[in-house]
Parts: sequence; C-alpha cells; structure tokens
Amino acid sequence: MSYTGKITTALTDDGSARVIFANTTGVVARAAEIHRPSKTVTAALGRCLTAAAVMGSTLKDEQGSLTLRISGGGPAGSFVCVSDSLGNVRGCCDEPTAELPPNALGKLDVGGVVGKSGELYVVRDYGFGEPYVGHCALVSGEIAEDVTNYYAVSEQTPTVCALGVRVDKAGGVMGAGGYMLQLLPGADEDIIPVLQANVDSLPSLSALIAAGRDDGDIIASLLSGLPYSLLDEHDIEYRCSCSREKYRSAIKKLGIRELKDMRDSGEEAEIICRFCGTRHVFSPRELADMYDERVTELRQARENR
Ligand SMILES: [Zn+2]
Repeated sequence: MSYTGKITTALTDDGSARVIFANTTGVVARAAEIHRPSKTVTAALGRCLTAAAVMGSTLKDEQGSLTLRISGGGPAGSFVCVSDSLGNVRGCCDEPTAELPPNALGKLDVGGVVGKSGELYVVRDYGFGEPYVGHCALVSGEIAEDVTNYYAVSEQTPTVCALGVRVDKAGGVMGAGGYMLQLLPGADEDIIPVLQANVDSLPSLSALIAAGRDDGDIIASLLSGLPYSLLDEHDIEYRCSCSREKYRSAIKKLGIRELKDMRDSGEEAEIICRFCGTRHVFSPRELADMYDERVTELRQARENR
C-alpha cells in the first residue's frame, strides 16, 4: 500500500470560492500502523489528520505549521494533529485504543469517542513572531461540523468542511479524504445558492470514497455550474519532524536540577516520540555532556549580564 496522499486545490475563475481536497488514504493508513488505534479512533484520528492537512495547506508561509487540537472530553482524550504548509501531517491522541459501540445510525461513534464538551484549538505558527491561536466550542465532536463552525465563528470565513474515513471490519483503512469549500473575500454572492445546492446534492464523503469517486470528480461536483481551474496538486505524507537533535535541546531546556538528577542516576534516558513512535535514547555519557554544556551556558549568560 502507498503511504502518500494528495492535495488538490481548485479556484473559481472569478476568485469567489476555492476547494481544497485532500486524499489521505495512505496518510491515515500510516497513522493507524503507528498508533494501532481502535476502529472508531482510526476514523476520528483520520478525520483530524485530514482536516489539519487541508487547513495547513492554506498557510502562506513556507516555514509555517498548523496545529489542530480537539479536546472534547471523550474516552479517546485530546487529539493533536500538526501540518506543515504543504499538508504533510502527524497526529496522535491520548487513548488510541478507546472504543465505543456503534451510534444510533449504526456508524462508528466518532462524536462519542471524541466528546463534545470542550473546544477546538487552531495554532498557526509562522516560524517567526507570536503564533496565532484561535478556538471555539465543539458542536458535535464529529470534527467536520466542528471545523465548519470554527471558520464561521472564529475566522468569519464561510466554509463547508467534509471529512470521511472508511474502516473495514478488521480496522484497516479502506479510504480517507476530506475537503474545505470556502468563500473568499469579496465573493460574488450569487454563487452561494449554487454552491449550497452542489453541497446538498453530494452524498456523504465516506459514501463517495466507498464508491471510488476520484478527487477531481468530487471537486467537479462541488463547483458544478461555475467555471474553475485546478491551481495545484501535490503529494503529501504522514511526516514527523522529530529528531535526536530536537529532543537533545528539549532535555537541555529542563531545569538544571532535573538535568543533574538525570546525570547522577547513571542511567540512559529514553524518549519515545508520541507522533511517530521513534525511540530516542541518550547515554549516561551524553547526559553528562549535556549537563556540562548547560552549566557553561548558564555561567556565560550570567557573566554577560
Ligand atoms: Zn516523531
């Protein structure tokens, strides 16, 4: 199975509306391999990752990143997904194995496992200056609805978000994807009823994915009746940005007392990345070096004061 996904962006020729469509089947399959989640959490995490990828790909700054955090108080705990400006994502939740019986419609109870008594947070980090933080109360915990509401309430950008993840009986990811249809500033209001009718006539995204409808085809249905062009199409993947170097500097930023305790214990320190599962191990020798470096840094800072 391929672990890549794809993001396609389309813009109406008059610049009134855009669709960002993410095919995330491979990305969600990779996430499921790392986290071994229950079926319902696979769907929930898949939706979150897809939403983060779509939202992240709208960042204008190449160095930027977007974090989508959903804390709904459900049994799976908080979901955190981080995207770069191309839509490469990573994500995790507190309790990946949490599971609930199917909901009243006989579907995976994503809203139940996520919970809806909490908030959705969006952090846009531009790689410089203060990050932008937006948040709003959750509507249903089903995620697409919550993202739609977030754009209306917190960003005043009329948006329709749809997300879908198909999971087979054994928990395997059969298909995943999602889109955001957005009105852009200065949009021609006459197109709103056209877009609304297009959205209303489209079956659920899970059904479309199950039916094997391709990305371009779904975009064509969403923008039916409006001239548009495809602006961009590129591959994305599940991508973690962790490295030994990053964890090394994180450990060094712990208090000097913690660092000394780690050194004095004579044991190695092990950190497992919560996003990709990579084990980063630091030997007692390295911990001693890090302690010495930190002591020197602190002394120099004091002398320069
Ligand atoms: Zn990692």
